[in-house]
Amino acid sequence: LDKIKKHKTTNKKKRIATTSLAGCFGCHMSMLDIDLGLLDLLEVVEFNKSPITDIKNFTEHCDIGLIEGGCCNTHNIEVLREFRKHCDILVSVGECAIWGGLPAIRNTVPLEECLREAYLESMTSEEGATIIPNHEDIPKILNKVYSNHEVVKIDYHIPGCPPNANHIWNVVKHILFEEEYSIAYPEFKYD
Ligand code: SF4
Repeated sequence: LDKIKKHKTTNKKKRIATTSLAGCFGCHMSMLDIDLGLLDLLEVVEFNKSPITDIKNFTEHCDIGLIEGGCCNTHNIEVLREFRKHCDILVSVGECAIWGGLPAIRNTVPLEECLREAYLESMTSEEGATIIPNHEDIPKILNKVYSNHEVVKIDYHIPGCPPNANHIWNVVKHILFEEEYSIAYPEFKYD
């Protein structure tokens, strides 16, 4: 807290952006889990593009981008590249961002089979269904789910599913204060 106060009096606020790609928003829920700690954080940072602010497009260059989820479709790739362009430091938050997580389970099955199972042959498919959605306005599904560091350079990873809220913001604060920080394995959180 002292460091935050000192930082507040001597520095401009840092800008943070966040996004959810192929994730479940659990990591974003965890980000909000620090409750009143968020007020301390807001002394030194401001949020730009993020579901937290509902700002849809970058309005300024950001210091840190927090990425939840990996890349399962062409839109995810576009957003991730946009974050790389607009943020000095990119952080993959959670297992989906780090290695694909739950969505990457489909990587063990050919894409055509996944689509057939989802749209034509599942228990809830309409009888005789023949159409797999495919329109130029719909992002194309990738052949597999990619981890973010396979697509762009990622500077830091925060493990967990979802990572503990305090760990997420400790990482952010240590990046802000340019200090080393590492989480011991027993502290990783998997719900
Ligand atoms: Fe959800 Fe876990 Fe993936 Fe975060 S890491 S998006 S909580 S499944």
